[in-house]
Parts: sequence; structure tokens; C-alpha cells
Amino acid sequence: MRWGPAGIPMEFKGNTAEAIGYTASEGLNAFECEFVKGVKMRHEMAVEARKIAEKNGVSLSAHAPYWINCAAMERAKIDATIRNIMETTRIAEVLGARIIVFHPGFYMGRSPEETAKLVKKTLEDVLGRMKQEGIKNVWLGLETTGKGAQFGSLSENIELSHSLDRTRTVVDFAHIHARGGGKLKKKGDYLGIFTEMENKLGREAVMNFHSHFSEVAWNEKGERYHMILGEQYSPPFKPLAEVIAENGYEGTIISESPLLDVDALKMKRMYEEAAKNNR
Ligand SMILES: [Zn+2]
Repeated sequence: MRWGPAGIPMEFKGNTAEAIGYTASEGLNAFECEFVKGVKMRHEMAVEARKIAEKNGVSLSAHAPYWINCAAMERAKIDATIRNIMETTRIAEVLGARIIVFHPGFYMGRSPEETAKLVKKTLEDVLGRMKQEGIKNVWLGLETTGKGAQFGSLSENIELSHSLDRTRTVVDFAHIHARGGGKLKKKGDYLGIFTEMENKLGREAVMNFHSHFSEVAWNEKGERYHMILGEQYSPPFKPLAEVIAENGYEGTIISESPLLDVDALKMKRMYEEAAKNNR
């Protein structure tokens, strides 16, 4: 299993490359580079970050900008979406990041089927450009979304990642929980997610999964804030740790809690405890 923060830990003062070294020294082995407000990293920094990640055995991923909408109404917004995804894939290729994560889009009054078609068309365009530019090592990660107005339920993402090349479903547990009105409570609830992935996408999907975890505050529209682990919110992490340990699933869990690295370490320890009890 791999564990790491979504971006530079709050208490750390320094650049991305230094932060990767710092999180490795804490005992973590994954790091998601956050480009949620645009790709501003210089090429040299990406090269340096890659070097430090490789030296310390940290696997990198990247989060593409928030404003991406693969089903936007206006052509100009689709073009901007393609540009933003491409910029993220280019820097990810330099970083050696194996997956870029993004929220696929919004329904904006259209049916799930129609929205899926539009998202697919945009991503086919992106995949064509990646091929043209020789970007060979990066996968597109469709994140499960946290609001009812957003395209990207677990089933929708599984369906799309099944029908597109080099595309994976990224499970954000907090989002699935918030969107489902707090539905992740027990082991069976988590097992259902992995089972759906494995049934439709094959064993590989659960032996090399990429995911986000944090507790979350939500209302009837879905997610509101990512919260600190173990305060008073949910979903609970322990049953997830147990499901992963018991079924031998493998992958990466990125902590999106406000305490990025601290909670990543907490999750790692809880998982190790569950794995020990399972031996
Ligand atoms: Zn997320």
C-alpha cells in the first residue's frame, strides 16, 4: 500500500521537491502534486521533484485544475478543459507521475447518458493529443465526485474508464459518502465499491487502485468540507483498512484531510494494525 498527502504539508515550508523528501522522511511513500489552481510548476522543479521521489521510493500523482468540465456547454470551455488536462499530463510526464486526477464534469440539466457521451468525446480528444505528443506514461484518473450536480458517480466513472484507453476510476471515499447521504458505514459498504470495480474492470483495478480519503461534512447537495480524521465526522476509516487488508487489495490512498501528512500516517498505522490482525 502507498500513503501520502494531497500536496505540500501545511507545517512544511519549502518547494514541492523538498516536500516530497520531507514526507518520505516521515514514513510516507506517495505524494499527489496539486495543480488545482492551474499548472504553474517549472520544468526544472518537476525534474528535481522526480529525482527526489525516485531516490526515496515515493510514487507521484497529480491533481488537475478544479475548473475542468469535460461536458461544458460552450466550445471555448471545452477547449480550456482540454488545455488544462494537457498541461497537467505534460508536467506529469516530466514528474514521472503515473496518473492525473480530475472531476470529469457537470450534468447542467442533461441526462447522465448524454453527459457521459460528451465527457467521453472530450477525453478521446485528449487521448489523441497525448498520443501525438508522445505522452505515454500518464493515465487519466476520473475521480468520483461529491455533489449530485456533478457527473462522476462510481458507476459512471467505471463505465467510462472501461470504454476508454489509459483511463482509470479514482475512488474518493469522502465524495461517495457525501453524495450518498452518508452511506459508507460498515465494511460491506466499502467492499461493495471494490467488488463493483473488480467485476467490471478486472482484478488489476483493485490491485493497483488510486484513491482519496478524508472525513467529510456534507448537506443535501453533497460534500462541503474535508475534515480531520477521527474528529466527529465520517466515513470511518477503520472498516476500509480492514476490507483492504482482508482482501489483499493494493493501491494508493492520498489523504485530503486538512492535516494532510499527519492523517496519511494515521491511516497507514490503522491499516498496518488491520493487516497484522489478519495474518
Ligand atoms: Zn478527492
